[in-house]
Amino acid sequence: MVYLQSFFSEPRATPYSVARWQPRGYRYPELRVLAPLLPDGRPIKRVSPDKYLDLYAGALASRWQDVKKTVSWLKKVDAALCCWCNPERQKGYEKLFCHTILIGFLLEEAGVPVVYLDGREKPVWDEADRARFLKILRAEVLKRQ
Ligand SMILES: [Zn+2]
Repeated sequence: MVYLQSFFSEPRATPYSVARWQPRGYRYPELRVLAPLLPDGRPIKRVSPDKYLDLYAGALASRWQDVKKTVSWLKKVDAALCCWCNPERQKGYEKLFCHTILIGFLLEEAGVPVVYLDGREKPVWDEADRARFLKILRAEVLKRQ
C-alpha cells in the first residue's frame, strides 16, 4: 500500500521523500527517481498543470529502468511518499497540484493500491488527464526502446 501525503502530516507508513528537497530537520530516505526533475536535472516548475503532466511523463520515461525498479519495489512494501504540498501551502489552484498525484496514477496502473491524502483526494488532474499521462508515458518509453 502506498500513501501519498504531505511532509506535514503523520506518515501512515515508512516515509520516503519524493520531493526535490526536504523540510529542515527531515532525513527521510529519498526516492530521487520520482522527484519532479527534468532529464537534465533541472526542476519542473512554473508551468500549468497540463504542461507539468507532459514534462513529468517525459522525465519518468527518460529514467524508466529506475522508475520501473522503484514501482516493482513499491508493490511489495508499505510506504508513505511525501512531498511538501497540501492545500494550506498551495496558492492559485483550488484543487491540489502535486506530482505525487501523478505517481499515484502510475502506481495504480501497475496494480499498487494508493491512498491519496492531504488534498490529493481532490487533484487538479481528472480522469482524462490520468489517461493522457499514462498514454504519454507509454509512448515515450516505447520511443526510447
Ligand atoms: Zn508536491
